[in-house]
Amino acid sequence: MPDVMIVTGGSRGIGAATAILGAKAGYAVVVNYASNRDAADDVVATIEADGGTAIAVKGDVGVEADIVAIFKAADELGALKALVNNAGIVAEAADVADYDLARLERIFRINVIGSFLCAREAVKRMSTKRGGAGGAIVNLSSAAAKLGAGGSRVDYAATKGAIDTFTVGLAKEVAGEGISVTAVRPGIIETDIHASGGEPGRVAEMAASLPLKRPGTAEEVARAILWLASDEASYSTGAILDVSGARAILP
Ligand code: NAP
Repeated sequence: MPDVMIVTGGSRGIGAATAILGAKAGYAVVVNYASNRDAADDVVATIEADGGTAIAVKGDVGVEADIVAIFKAADELGALKALVNNAGIVAEAADVADYDLARLERIFRINVIGSFLCAREAVKRMSTKRGGAGGAIVNLSSAAAKLGAGGSRVDYAATKGAIDTFTVGLAKEVAGEGISVTAVRPGIIETDIHASGGEPGRVAEMAASLPLKRPGTAEEVARAILWLASDEASYSTGAILDVSGARAILP
């Protein structure tokens, strides 16, 4: 049975790049998606064309029953070795004074609670105390966790701050159970997420102001994720790696 990697939100952007590199590294990959079946199928086809193994599994990480179903589908493929808690959303830019409850509940449910529940399912399977063989969980934080995103998306930044704390806490909790828990904090990465937040031109507008004068690519983030998930990172549990081209590095 192959080692399995689940990538939530594996159909596009950073998740798609991670799924493709994960398959190259030898994992059988569960490419989770929310609604874009064609994009997920494209990722699976790319992996299969390269001789890898992958399945597309629909499921909303904001819904507990969907998460349970994603992990059951993974169980059919092999033993879970890596979870990449990648699925995440942004909302349109707005001041905190104008947020409504539905906005806050949605973003915290998907970005934070979804990551907790996926990690719960992963720990149940990986923990050496529970009969598992160990594994790795890599969470997607954001440079926004440090910057705060005041004046646009404080809610999003706060969900990523929660992911940072979750990463450190869970890393300590399962350190004796063969499970590594880490995170990456990407900066401005060229994906669809900016358009989904109502700002399709954001990356191009910001490029000149970034330290490297360009955004990052999904693959540049995926490489860091794959390293953190690998045995090469055997003493890095609890680490949160900035992949931001020097944006949001505090002195
Ligand atoms: P993206 O291009 O917008 O892709 C989002 C992916 O997540 C898609 O595969 C989408 O599936 C899936 N998804 C969305 N909501 C979901 C849900 N409720 N359940 C399951 N899957 C869901 O995003 P991205 O830019 O690659 O971002 C990936 C992660 O990196 C996020 O956690 C984001 O916060 C973080 N990040 C991104 C940046 C950046 O600049 N891009 C910077 C810092 C952090 P469908 O295809 O089915 O819609």
